[in-house]
Amino acid sequence: MSLLSLSDIRFRWPNATHDALQIDSLDVQANERVFLYGPSGCGKSTLLSLIVGVVAPQSGKLEMLGQSLAELSSAKRDQFRADHIGYVFQQFNLLPYLSVLQNVTLACQFSKTRTAKAIKRSGTVAQEARRLLNQLQLPGELIDSPVNELSIGQQQRVAAARALIGSPELIIADEPTSALDKVNRQRFMELLLTEIEHAGSSLIMVSHDEQLLEHFQKDIHLPSLNKAVQHGLD
Ligand code: ADP
Ligand code: ADP
Repeated sequence: MSLLSLSDIRFRWPNATHDALQIDSLDVQANERVFLYGPSGCGKSTLLSLIVGVVAPQSGKLEMLGQSLAELSSAKRDQFRADHIGYVFQQFNLLPYLSVLQNVTLACQFSKTRTAKAIKRSGTVAQEARRLLNQLQLPGELIDSPVNELSIGQQQRVAAARALIGSPELIIADEPTSALDKVNRQRFMELLLTEIEHAGSSLIMVSHDEQLLEHFQKDIHLPSLNKAVQHGLD
């Protein structure tokens, strides 16, 4: 079974005069790593919002783990997202006054399944958070610091650990290496992928960094997939 499947999707933002997305078909398998790229405005953020169920398509079918997110109540959709998707936001969306550890463990507080998986892996949720942060090379002495005292590169590592904890089936990462220099970028990517592979998660990553492409099984040039963009060009 596909982890994620989209067919005949059409999506337009409220009050917009053109569709932002028209996609005939897109499938992501379990354990698959997908590199999503294309110029600004081609619909990358919109597609991610659609996949996580923040917005619903006007027509077409979108299923994750066999479940149509649009058919769930908003509370059930929130729960589904908390259980099955880890999201690394471009702007991190960390809670600035909470500690590193609190930010990472928070992802489990809303999800019994992720809590159970974290405990299975490391004994406690906090231990699993420490393991991930250590794995992603965040200096251990920072673990109780408020995240707003960390450098941007360090915050990026915290955001990744928060997405990974409890091994959600799908990790979505929007430019997750943007705050890192070239050398750290490759290293961080390798560490991230080791964890993702171990967890058995799929990854959809938006990036402009084509050097990272080698780590992916599938690359999607969104303007080629998205007919709305092609129509906009002619
Ligand atoms: P990115 O580089 O990630 O594509 P953008 O600058 O395009 O960033 O968008 C940043 C945020 O603003 C995204 O969450 C996107 O959904 C939102 N956004 C983009 N265009 C519009 C718009 N025309 N109206 C409202 N929100 C928008
Ligand atoms: P990308 O992430 O590839 O830069 P976006 O998904 O942000 O592209 O944008 C695709 C189109 O949708 C653009 O025309 C953008 O202005 C529009 N858009 C994006 N987010 C919003 C939003 N929240 N509200 C209205 N329009 C949006």
